[in-house]
Amino acid sequence: MADSASQQEEALGELAIGCTRCSQLAATRTQVVFASGTTNADLMLIGEAPGASEDREGTPFVGASGKLLSGLLAGIGLTREEVYVTNVLKCRPPDNRDPRADEIANCAPFLRSQVELVAPIVVVTLGNFATKLLRQDDTAITAIHGKAALHSFGAMTVWLYPVFHPAAALYRRPNLELLREDFARLPKLLAAGAPKQRATGAPKPKSARAEDGGVPQLDLF
Ligand code: SF4
Repeated sequence: MADSASQQEEALGELAIGCTRCSQLAATRTQVVFASGTTNADLMLIGEAPGASEDREGTPFVGASGKLLSGLLAGIGLTREEVYVTNVLKCRPPDNRDPRADEIANCAPFLRSQVELVAPIVVVTLGNFATKLLRQDDTAITAIHGKAALHSFGAMTVWLYPVFHPAAALYRRPNLELLREDFARLPKLLAAGAPKQRATGAPKPKSARAEDGGVPQLDLF
């Protein structure tokens, strides 16, 4: 029988299917790509936005990137069904353009609810875009990949763990090696368990903020 988190996540996904908050994306998408996997996951992975294959199939990270991601997970003893995978945006931007700040803000409540429902131990951000957005700073992925840092999502604290985007690793062999090494460190991080949660009502830690022209700012967490 489905637990409460999975039922709520399913209801959220149904809501997203009818979402037209981003008029251009709603008009050009084939379908909404909400998530895959289980809400019981200790590991949540967040990418940027669906691409052409994802838009066609309705599942995040399919095609070559998805195959690589599944292989990386298999390398640490996990299947796609045992983790939770989603994107910052649930609809494909036309021609794979970058998500716009207003679209990110529109879609942020979905992502926030997903994180709260899954309550993972580790959130892996896949690539520069998702990493900068969730960290709310401009630090490049090359400087922080494979380095876990405590991060607050509302009242919940998780390990935020940035890695290269699988698509970027497919283009550059050295990135693929780094991606494999970073994934190999995940089991230890997961085994350490959930980080100590801050007390309810405690002041929210300040995130680093990008200067003008940097990462789109959003009230995500
Ligand atoms: S990207 Fe998110 S907010 Fe925008 S239309 Fe799609 S589901 Fe709605």
